[in-house]
Amino acid sequence: MPFSSLSEIKTRLDAGQTTAVDVAKLYLDRIQAFNKDLNAFVHLDPEHVLAQAQASDLYRTQHTPRPLEGLPIAIKDIFCTQDGPTRCCSKILEGFEAPYDAHVITLLKEAGAVLVGKTNMDEFAMGSSNETSAFGGVQNPWNIDCIPGGSSGGSAAAVAAALTPAALGTDTGGSIRQPASLTGLVGLKPTYGRISRRGIIAFASSLDQAGPMTRTVKDTAMITSVLSSHDSGDSTSVVDAPSFDWLKACESRDMKGLRIGKPKEYFIDGIHEDVRARIEEALKICESLGAEIVDISLPHTEYAVAAYYVIAPSEASTNLSRYDAVRFGHRCENPEDLEDMYARSRDEGFGAEVKRRILTGAFALSSGYYDAYYLKAQQVRTLISQDFKAAFEKVDIIATPTSPIPAFKSGEKTDDPLTMYLSDIFTIAANLAGLPGLSQPCGFADNLPVGLQWIAPAWQEDKILSAASAYEGATDWHTKSPAAFGGNL
Ligand code: GLN
Repeated sequence: MPFSSLSEIKTRLDAGQTTAVDVAKLYLDRIQAFNKDLNAFVHLDPEHVLAQAQASDLYRTQHTPRPLEGLPIAIKDIFCTQDGPTRCCSKILEGFEAPYDAHVITLLKEAGAVLVGKTNMDEFAMGSSNETSAFGGVQNPWNIDCIPGGSSGGSAAAVAAALTPAALGTDTGGSIRQPASLTGLVGLKPTYGRISRRGIIAFASSLDQAGPMTRTVKDTAMITSVLSSHDSGDSTSVVDAPSFDWLKACESRDMKGLRIGKPKEYFIDGIHEDVRARIEEALKICESLGAEIVDISLPHTEYAVAAYYVIAPSEASTNLSRYDAVRFGHRCENPEDLEDMYARSRDEGFGAEVKRRILTGAFALSSGYYDAYYLKAQQVRTLISQDFKAAFEKVDIIATPTSPIPAFKSGEKTDDPLTMYLSDIFTIAANLAGLPGLSQPCGFADNLPVGLQWIAPAWQEDKILSAASAYEGATDWHTKSPAAFGGNL
């Protein structure tokens, strides 16, 4: 049971073979037993979890079960939740309790989900290894000497070790897909505008999007279908977003007639040989399922990381100005004057990576440099979107590695931010262009999971779900789980 998918647990709940309380107890026991090895959760209130499960069991006796009735879902610490702290794993938010639930949290509650604690993450979601968290790093369940990816590293480790069957993450430049890839999970970043950002602590508002991290493609569809609904409280949440039957999209078992683009810029030197081999093998399977593999080019890919590291820090520098020790955030002791209070409070509250982003962003936006950096980066962003547009005239969907390398050792890249930034080289372009992207497990390299990424035109998550479901149906990578935590490999 612990490594069951969400949909398997749902089947057992609906058949009366188990109860939400028993399911919650099982995962609470596992968190109790294993969290000390992983540091995946930064907040857990077992009584509150059980109370939600009891309420769900009661609801079930009186009504038709809701879509996520009684199913446990862990929440990245970036989502505002009325119950318990919301700290974005930053010292600056120590003691902060959100006055309201993020819109997506409300939707999960209304769908009957049982919310299980807050998961560890890189501070303000800035990082690719979960090592910038004020609560310390997270270990990868497949090898505890390795990082789980980031920034949604706690969510990834928690699902991979079956401390919860599913979790929510956010993805600004790859923070759902890269950790999903490094821990052998399915993770979806939906089309920008599909899911409300209200109540999600902002990093880079034009890129941030929430999404699920699960064991199977169908589980991802179950959660995303609940989350995708217009929110009048978020001006970037799209009204009447194109929709479809999310679960039906997962019934596909072949790829007949599907044209899959294979961009040459994503198969460059420097990618781990075994990662490349796994992706090539996956594409062969796609061919055997009826797909046609088409070589394509996304020529501006090589500028994506550079453009992202101007745009994301620029937006972050303005978003994070709200932590001024007055409205939000830590306040230093005995400030001499207003300026001293701002400076010292922010210096004490923010970690090194967050400060680096604020400085880079403020510089890129400053007068005299705005045109040279910010404006240029926005122009590159347009070119990247146009690359995708042109590619989607020839193909239905694009397949790439999610990450150029498998999980690396903790501490290996912490002194070298530029190398760390390259972790997201294959995920960032989808954020810049606002497109949906999903990572799913496709084998191992150095005994660590490898992820296959699918990117589709905006609003066509159904294409991704169909392709990923067909691939999943033909392989068994999604059934593998780490032996150190009671799994099968
Ligand atoms: N690793 C990237 C960064 O540090 C992406 C993070 C994210 O998607 N939140 O900015």
